[in-house]
Amino acid sequence: MEASQSIGSIVLLGPPGAGKGTQAKRITERYAIPQISTGDLLRENVRNGTALGLKAKDIMARGELVPDELLYDMVAERLRRPDCERGYILDGFPRTAAQAGWLDAFLEREILDNPKCGKWLPFVISMDVDYNVLLLRLTGRRTCPTCERIYNVHYQPPRVDGICDVDGAKLVTRNDDREEVIRERLQAYERQTRPVAEYYQQKGRLVSVDGMLNADQVTEQVFREIRNHSPAKVGGC
Ligand code: AMP
Repeated sequence: MEASQSIGSIVLLGPPGAGKGTQAKRITERYAIPQISTGDLLRENVRNGTALGLKAKDIMARGELVPDELLYDMVAERLRRPDCERGYILDGFPRTAAQAGWLDAFLEREILDNPKCGKWLPFVISMDVDYNVLLLRLTGRRTCPTCERIYNVHYQPPRVDGICDVDGAKLVTRNDDREEVIRERLQAYERQTRPVAEYYQQKGRLVSVDGMLNADQVTEQVFREIRNHSPAKVGGC
């Protein structure tokens, strides 16, 4: 599959710490499509002090899910931008069965509004990882506030403790990567996101990859699934 071809709408599904962010970055580089992370979009809103950011800030700090009605306009606006025309990767959305239903309905509506352009129903890659491994990955995660590079004190430490290899900035622990918050985030995932996998499974649009393997091996599996998948295009140019 060439970088210029449409690869459609891809959802990376998996608990926090499954490696969705890492894999999403690699897909964007390989296929030149944007990564859309609702967590990143929300954090940007919090940083910029927007009305949405002010509402979401405390909810996010507690590790709870931001209410759907706060998210939909933000996601719709992002998916309508021209850089999504050949496809995009959704990371962290949908996280509930209601969000999955909204996304299908939104994409189908977009096709009616804009019949000249093809849209795709999401193809979902689920990354499966054991609970205890997730805990280690998340408690060890450190991020560079300048270049956003991610390290792990257990698996992938920086050369100098607490300092980014690339730009020398002091690494930070994300507000919601504290252990008590992590447990809440993992429980929220079990409660609310498992049904998302079931939703897509029933629609025949879900494949699973083994997220316990190292990042390169996971990437191999992910790329294979993308190559084998022909976008479920509805409507068409
Ligand atoms: P993430 O970076 O994906 O782990 O998201 C960080 C936080 O943003 C989550 O713990 C939620 O509070 C919020 N968030 C991100 N995506 C969603 C979503 N699809 N639904 C509800 N809340 C979300």
